Amino acid sequence: MTASRIQRWALTLAAYECTIVYKKGSLNGNADGLSRLPLKTNVEKTPTPGDTILLMEHLATTPVDAKQIQKWTRKDTILSLVLRYILNGWPSKCPGEDIRPYYIRKNELCSEDGCILWGRRVIIPQPGREAMLNELHQGHPGITRMKSLARSYIWWPGMDNDLELTVINCYSCQENRKLPAEAPLHPWEYPSHPWSRIPIDFAGPFMNKSFLIMVDAYSKWIDIHVMNSTTSEATMAKLQQTFETHGLCDLIISDNGAAFTSKEFDDYVKSNGIEHRTSVPWHPASNGCADRAVQSFKEARYEENQRRNCPGKVEPFSFQPQTTTGLAPSELLMKRKLKSRLDLVFSKYREASSHGRDNKNKNIITTRNL
Ligand SMILES: [Zn+2]
Repeated sequence: MTASRIQRWALTLAAYECTIVYKKGSLNGNADGLSRLPLKTNVEKTPTPGDTILLMEHLATTPVDAKQIQKWTRKDTILSLVLRYILNGWPSKCPGEDIRPYYIRKNELCSEDGCILWGRRVIIPQPGREAMLNELHQGHPGITRMKSLARSYIWWPGMDNDLELTVINCYSCQENRKLPAEAPLHPWEYPSHPWSRIPIDFAGPFMNKSFLIMVDAYSKWIDIHVMNSTTSEATMAKLQQTFETHGLCDLIISDNGAAFTSKEFDDYVKSNGIEHRTSVPWHPASNGCADRAVQSFKEARYEENQRRNCPGKVEPFSFQPQTTTGLAPSELLMKRKLKSRLDLVFSKYREASSHGRDNKNKNIITTRNL
């Protein structure tokens, strides 16, 4: 594994909040990480501790870290002065040209944890700027999207200019300019509405069955279909079932598996006006939703089902709030909480009030809302 590839992974992973848990290689059911990049020979060895340690070191030094920004801000001659002005008050006249970009924004600046914020945007000190530009440039999203992503998170004087220079000096970005519709997804982007971007993937086979997993990138709603075969035809039939419930989506993302790259599949998505993109092996974030869903599905359901010896019993697990959105998938997708078997513990009275049918008691706080 090359250092540059590890670094690229580390930057991609920096967009997520990760909990790293050691898992013995033989117990790790996540076979799908390599499904887009199959190896000719089986690798029997688990990653060496050296690789893991190196990756963790890269994560710890990722430039999006607030602690590092705080340290740089303190060491930066201009920013440390700006920080002092924010805390102790600004002079009546601008003290120098270097300070001017901050002085004209003085009423909109504040400090938080030793970092300086302009509105909601963190001001990145000089040593972190190049790394931030690289991070925004990841996936070559083009100047417009890079600027709009940057404006949601960060700022420094002349940032727009630096972003433009990055794009001008990048061959891939210049190539993509001719084909704006082909610009790839950026892992930071969140869809603007439910049921728009749907990563799909197969899990299994286990229990002699394969499973088609579809995830709504907006709500994290997961649809799972038991598959007797993984042909394009069978896949399209299951997609059709889901689309009849939720309607058509705008974009499907899959790996380069045979079922997704056939002409029939291509015709099917095109005839429904759905855009289809296949993820590339070195850009796993583009299909990360599906990978994560496959992993959760395997861990939560497969092991449970195996224990209970009831293969094939698959339930949608869209009841629990997701860490990324803080809401249950159904609340984002359907604007309501789904009744689960757990709701059976509530009395009819409480259930009625929680659904708003009993107006007299609508102010009663039900435990399901807590
Ligand atoms: Zn580029």
